[in-house]
Amino acid sequence: MRPCIGITCGVNEQGRYSLPQTYVEAIQQEGGRVILLPPGEAIWPEVDGLLLPGGDDIQPHWWGEDILPGLDAWEPERDVYEIFLVREAWQRNVPLFGICRGMQVTNVALGGSLWQDIPRQCPNALLHRQEADLAQVSHLVTIQDGGGRLSCGELWVNSHHHQGIKKLASCLKKGAIAADGLVEAFYAPAKDFFWGVQWHPERLLTEPEAGRQLIHCFVQAGYHHFMAK
Ligand code: MN
Repeated sequence: MRPCIGITCGVNEQGRYSLPQTYVEAIQQEGGRVILLPPGEAIWPEVDGLLLPGGDDIQPHWWGEDILPGLDAWEPERDVYEIFLVREAWQRNVPLFGICRGMQVTNVALGGSLWQDIPRQCPNALLHRQEADLAQVSHLVTIQDGGGRLSCGELWVNSHHHQGIKKLASCLKKGAIAADGLVEAFYAPAKDFFWGVQWHPERLLTEPEAGRQLIHCFVQAGYHHFMAK
C-alpha cells in the first residue's frame, strides 16, 4: 500500500547515473516507494508521483532564447525527458514535486522562462548560489500563497541554484518569493499537488515547514493517486 514515487536522475562525467541519496531517503521516510528514472524510461501507469530533483542548467532554446554568457553545462537528453514527463504528469493528473532544477524545468515545460545566470542578469539579486552546506539555511522567503500546504509568514530556506524563474507559467501561482522578488515556490491551483520549490527541502528535514511538510504532502498525494487507480 505504498505509493510509487519516480525520481529522475542525471548522468555524471564518468557515465554513472547520479542522484543524491537524500531525495530517496526523504521519500522513503514519508512512506513512499522509490523507483529511479534514467532518461528515456517509460513510467506510466506504475508511477503515483513524480519527483524532479536538482541538477544542471536547462538549455534556453526551450523558452525561445539564445545561449548567453554564464550558462553552465546542461544535459540535452535529460531536458527532453523531464519536459516530456512534466507535460504527461499534467495531462494524467499525477502529483509532481520539482526541487531546484526540477522546479525550473516544470516552469519551462508549462510555458514559463528562466534567468540563464542570475548574477549576470539580475545584478541586485541575493546570493542564491550559496556554497554552504545545504543543511544550513541561508535566506528568507515570504509565503505569498501557501495553497493550503504552507502557512503564511516567512521561512528560512537553503539556496544553491544558478538559474531562476523569469516568467512564471500562466497555469502556476507564486507560492513564495525571496526579498529580491525571485519566485522561490509555486504550485498549480488546478491540481491536487503540483509544486515547485527553489530550495532543497530534502536537506532540511529538521525544519517542519521548509523541509518535511511539502515532502509529506507530496507522498500523501501520491497515496491518493495510488488508491484511485
Ligand atoms: Mn534562493
